[in-house]
Amino acid sequence: MRDFLVAGNWKMNGDSASNTELVAGIIAGAPESDRVKLLICPPFPYLAAVAGQVAGSRVALGAQTVSEHTAGAYTGEVAAPMLRELGCEYVIVGHSERRSLYGESSDAVAAKFKAALAAGLRPILCVGETLAERESGNTEAVIDKQLNAVLAGVGIAEFATAVIAYEPVWAIGTGMTASPEQAQDVHSHIRAALSGHDVDIAASLQILYGGSMKGENAAGLLAMPDIDGGLIGGASLKAADFLAIAEAAAEG
Ligand code: PEP
Repeated sequence: MRDFLVAGNWKMNGDSASNTELVAGIIAGAPESDRVKLLICPPFPYLAAVAGQVAGSRVALGAQTVSEHTAGAYTGEVAAPMLRELGCEYVIVGHSERRSLYGESSDAVAAKFKAALAAGLRPILCVGETLAERESGNTEAVIDKQLNAVLAGVGIAEFATAVIAYEPVWAIGTGMTASPEQAQDVHSHIRAALSGHDVDIAASLQILYGGSMKGENAAGLLAMPDIDGGLIGGASLKAADFLAIAEAAAEG
């Protein structure tokens, strides 16, 4: 049986004072359940401070993106070994905002995925379709293309410690959540696609749902057999909202 991962993507939000309060609230309210792991992904400048705050707690640390390069003349970039040194366990790669606002191609996402693993980080690979792609019946084709670009670049064995997040672009930050059935359909498609490469890795891989997940809709989504947690944006910025999702996972 797979455990739940409840991950907060803070995006470009917060400051030292608000982060300290948010992290303290999350640590204090984290469910006791061994089946639920909490993860927070603050902006780069705050990783070191948050690492100190979560040390020894039940809350893990991750970053929101990473360079595909290990070191060198890449102004403004942050390398995977740096994130590892700061105490990150996970890193998000291929978030739709990175793909659409910063032009990250699927090949670049595959390279970032590989760089993360090489440094001992667990990549959280985001995939998802736009509304137009869904409405034209292309959801599975889009997901396959995003997934296959990484599979072709790294191979299925590299997915053994990875996580996938299905994030329909139309549901991110819009308040429009995929129904549990819509999400389950895509999650089971992803698992079946990976099963074609390696049955055991596909069975153990955590697939998170992301897109306007909140306390009120989390239980329905997390009750689905192939939904193993959430990647949460807006609702990860208040401890009570984030913990409501964690509680739904603990009760699931
Ligand atoms: C996200 O950006 O990964 C996300 C799911 O955001 P939100 O929860 O705000 O829709």
